[in-house]
Parts: sequence; structure tokens; C-alpha cells
Amino acid sequence: MVRAIVGANWGDEGKGKITDMLAKESDIIIRFQGGSNAGHTIINEYGKFALHLLPSGVFYSHTTSIIGNGVALNIPYLMDEIQSLIDRGVPRPRILVSDRAQILMPYHVLFDTCEEARLAGKSFGSTKSGIAPFYSDKYAKIGFQVSELFDEETLKEKAERVCELKNVMLEHLYHQPKLDPAELLDTLHGYRDMIAPYVCDVSAYLAEAIKEGKNILLEGQLGSLKDPDHGIYPMVTSSSTLAAFGAIGAGIPPYEIKNITAVVKAYSSAVGAGAFVSEIFGAEADELRRRGGDGGEFGATTGRPRRMGWFDAVATRYGCRIQGATEAVLTVLDVLGYLDELPVCVGYEIDGVVTKDFPTTVKLEKAKPVYVKLPGWKCEIRGIQKYEDLPENCRNYIEFIEKEIGTPIKMVSNGPGRDEIIYR
Ligand code: GDP
Repeated sequence: MVRAIVGANWGDEGKGKITDMLAKESDIIIRFQGGSNAGHTIINEYGKFALHLLPSGVFYSHTTSIIGNGVALNIPYLMDEIQSLIDRGVPRPRILVSDRAQILMPYHVLFDTCEEARLAGKSFGSTKSGIAPFYSDKYAKIGFQVSELFDEETLKEKAERVCELKNVMLEHLYHQPKLDPAELLDTLHGYRDMIAPYVCDVSAYLAEAIKEGKNILLEGQLGSLKDPDHGIYPMVTSSSTLAAFGAIGAGIPPYEIKNITAVVKAYSSAVGAGAFVSEIFGAEADELRRRGGDGGEFGATTGRPRRMGWFDAVATRYGCRIQGATEAVLTVLDVLGYLDELPVCVGYEIDGVVTKDFPTTVKLEKAKPVYVKLPGWKCEIRGIQKYEDLPENCRNYIEFIEKEIGTPIKMVSNGPGRDEIIYR
């Protein structure tokens, strides 16, 4: 059975915890898009970890962790991440890397950094991990595929071709030192030696695993609203964040994805620029940020404070629909116990008209939130294991959200730990 775990919001919904939890019953966990630009925070018996490139199943010795072809593969970063787990006592995980994955190069990071600096105030709020230049090159057909590392002739020819093109921009647009093809080739040789033990024909491996009835998890990064097609373009990421892309980014048939679990956060948070209708500011936002997540809402990769807001049912219903969610998990609900009342954004007012449909970006910029306020439960809900034991107002909040988003909430997460989960 293949299950996708994906974000229904702007990312940071707690997918890492849910994947880590469900990985216990799984054989294979796959990252199918994105790169080291996002982080998943996981708390388990080994400690607290922020994973960036590895899937959140690496802590179990029975699982195989896969970097799919859809990922932006930063090879030295991956090596460091593996080593950092081992250094902290985690058993060496079994990792496979698709021979069709493409390699994120140091010049992608350089271009990302130079471009954000050039755009200055109009920048996209990139994490400067090189993701946008990486995917641009992939689709411009000047990326390096892992398989190409093992063919010297291709490598040499391409290294020269890439330098020729990149150097025009480095010299004339960004005023940076030029790339040297011989140095680039050296870097690629180093990458080849590092990655060789992990390389695998992943789609063939998965076809066999599916035939054998293995349990497979596809782990998404970010969320629906950061998808380049269906999200808040252009303030989006550079690879699809949707479950449907899991089929492409892992190399499996789309009809094999039977369960699409959308992770929904009990309030809103976002990083980077872009319209955020239910955003809150000042002391109200500071308090939610301080109490949020596990130790505050600050980026796992960048440490940047996240933008905060009330639950946005318009965005989340759309987020679940565009994911094709078969079920939802509501996370970080425990954080909201301090509030007297909880505003939920149930509509957008755009040019005087209220809608429940999530609009395209130009209209989104004009949207004002329409709130319904629900009474708070004013107590700690961590430690509760049965749905019936949750305070009535808390259940009302969950059931109100469930109705608004049109997706059954099958699990409620009431703490960052692996076992802090309530099944319905
Ligand atoms: P991801 O990118 O979707 O995996 O999300 P992140 O890991 O960036 O953010 C989720 C944060 O919330 C992490 O710090 C988690 O440890 C924490 N977290 C996840 N679920 C819960 C929960 O139910 N309650 C609390 N308090 N924290 C949670």
C-alpha cells in the first residue's frame, strides 16, 4: 500500500512527526520533491532532530529511506546529514538514491544568493539553498543527473557547456568570479565517489516492492499553497508539493497511491513572502509564535520567525482538495489551549463579495478574512489519549474545522512526541 503524507497549508504542519510515527508500520519512506530547503522536526528516543534531506523514517532500522528522482540532491549535505545521525547514536540507516535524481551544485546556491540580493526588497524570501536555480536548470536540460556522474565523457562535455552559460551571468549580471570547468569536474568526481554506494534504479526497486505488498510512504515537503501550479504563485517553491507528484518524483504508477493523508495545522503559519489572509500581528502573533510548535514557530532550516495566523478554512479546504486528501491529521492543537476564543477564517471578502473558494494570487492579495469565533477550552490537552476525553469546546473546534474543510480528520496530534496522537 502506498500512502502519501503531504501538507495542506504552507508547510511546517508537522509532517515530519506524522511520517516518523507512521514509519513504524512502513517498509519504505521516500522523499519525492524539494531539497534541503525545508526541515522536518522529529522527537524520538534518540533526541530532537531537524531533518532536511533525509526522509523522516531513518530512525527505524527496519525501514529503507529513499531519495527519489524528484528531489534536489545536495550530495555533501546528504553525507553530513547521515553522519550527524550516526554521531548521535542512530543506527546507520539504509538509504537509496535514485539514479535519475539530479544534483544540486554549489553554483545553484551561489545563484540563489546572488539573485535574492539583486532583487533586494522584492525577493522571494528564498532559503538560499539553491532550489530555484536547480529546478530551472533541470527543466532547461543543463542539470547533472546522478547516472551521468558515471560517464566521464558526458560529464566533461556538460561541465564545459554549463560553465560557458553560467559565466555570462556571473560576470555581467552578478559580478562574481567565473566558474572553472576543471574545478567543476573535480567537484563532480568527488560527488560520484560519495554517492556511489547509494545509487539505485529506484522505480524498478519500488515496482518490485509494490508487487510484494510492502508498505510505502511518500513524504511531502512544504504544502499545497507552495505548489508552483496550484499555490500562491510566484511566492511558491520550485517543485510540486502535491501527492500526485509523488508518483512522478518517486517513479510509481499514480493509481498505487491509495491513501493521501493531508497534514493540517490547527492554526496558520507561513514562511517567506506572499499573501496570507488570516495573518495576525503584534503581541497576539508573538504569543502564538512563542507557544507554537515545539519551542516556538521558527524555521527548522533558517531559524527565521514564522508568520502567524488563525486557522484558514478557505485555504485549507482548497489545500485538501488539491492534494486529493482521503483523510486529514490535525496537528499542534495542544498549543491553542491558552485562548479564550479561537477565530476561524471561513470566508474571503474580495471587492465586497464573500467567497469560500480560494482564488488566484491577484485576487488573493485583495482578500480580507471573514471570521467565526469559537469558544476556547482553556486547559492543557497534552497527555489525553481518547477523543472523548478532550474538552467539549476542543472537540467542537475539531468538528467545526472538519466540516469546513470537507475531509475526515482521522487523527489529532496533541504534542510533538511520537505517541502524542489521538485516533478517531
Ligand atoms: P514539517 O515540515 O511539516 O515536518 O513541520 P515542522 O517539523 O517544521 O514543524 C512542526 C513543529 O511542530 C515541530 O517543531 C514539531 O516537533 C512540532 N509538532 C508537531 N506536531 C505537534 C503537536 O501536535 N503539538 C506540538 N506542540 N508540536 C508539534
